[in-house]
Amino acid sequence: MQIKPVALITGANKGIGLQIAKDLAGHGFTVLVGSRSFENGETAANSIGADAHALQLDVTDQNSIVAAAARIRNEFGRLDVLVNNAGISHAGRPGEFPSSGAASGLMTVASLEEIRAVYETNVFGVIAVTQAMLPLLREAPAARIVNMGSSGGSLSWNSIPGNSHRAMFGAYSASKSAVHAVTLAFAFALESTNIKVNAACPGFTSTALNNFAGTRSVEQGAHEAVRLAMIGADGPTGTFSDEAGPVAW
Ligand code: NAP
Repeated sequence: MQIKPVALITGANKGIGLQIAKDLAGHGFTVLVGSRSFENGETAANSIGADAHALQLDVTDQNSIVAAAARIRNEFGRLDVLVNNAGISHAGRPGEFPSSGAASGLMTVASLEEIRAVYETNVFGVIAVTQAMLPLLREAPAARIVNMGSSGGSLSWNSIPGNSHRAMFGAYSASKSAVHAVTLAFAFALESTNIKVNAACPGFTSTALNNFAGTRSVEQGAHEAVRLAMIGADGPTGTFSDEAGPVAW
């Protein structure tokens, strides 16, 4: 069994997830770099250092999820932090977001297949991975679960007339609203345990997800998730926040 605490970050082979893995390794965690391509995960883990290990994990593939949980138990013996970071903005049209990709994700025009694919990764992926890792997380002294939400999925914020994001509130944004709801559902169900479940918004961060149109660095984007992954016993559960503080659901 590992002496150091162990953190699993899904979709950690690039973008904000890779930065979260780097930061948690810097804070003394053994990090498991979840990646649907093992090779990409290995390249990313090597860029972090000896405390990082690639873990094949496709959040839409139950066999992959079950195998990942078994490997964590057998090789590391513990799991203290789960960051549900993996996400997609659309299904398989690289380079389209945020311009035409955002418009084609609107509920009026997107195919059910497209919407299901986005939900499969962003919503059901979070539920499936969390359920599979819960037995390990329950055994940890003070486990933390962090889900990557988005202020773009804030129902309160988007309900305000004139909010510029409303024009592109489609499948992706709605999937993030669902992630916020799922965060609360897990937090409530685990309220009597030592496990804290919170959602983080990274802000508009320059990554492949938005064709590098974001204005924030991955270092900035990782910051709130890393903070929530390390909150103490006096920290909150069932919250949604960014670096500036609470974000409206
Ligand atoms: P990114 O650079 O595109 O990274 C997304 C990661 O998710 C990649 O590692 C990708 O793996 C992985 N992924 C996608 N589908 C997967 C699957 N089925 N199984 C496992 N991994 C999968 O995007 P990012 O901006 O860092 O996004 C990270 C999180 O932040 C997402 O949840 C996103 O919604 C959220 N977020 C981002 C922004 C922003 O402005 N960037 C704003 C709000 C929220 P591959 O390399 O294999 O594709």
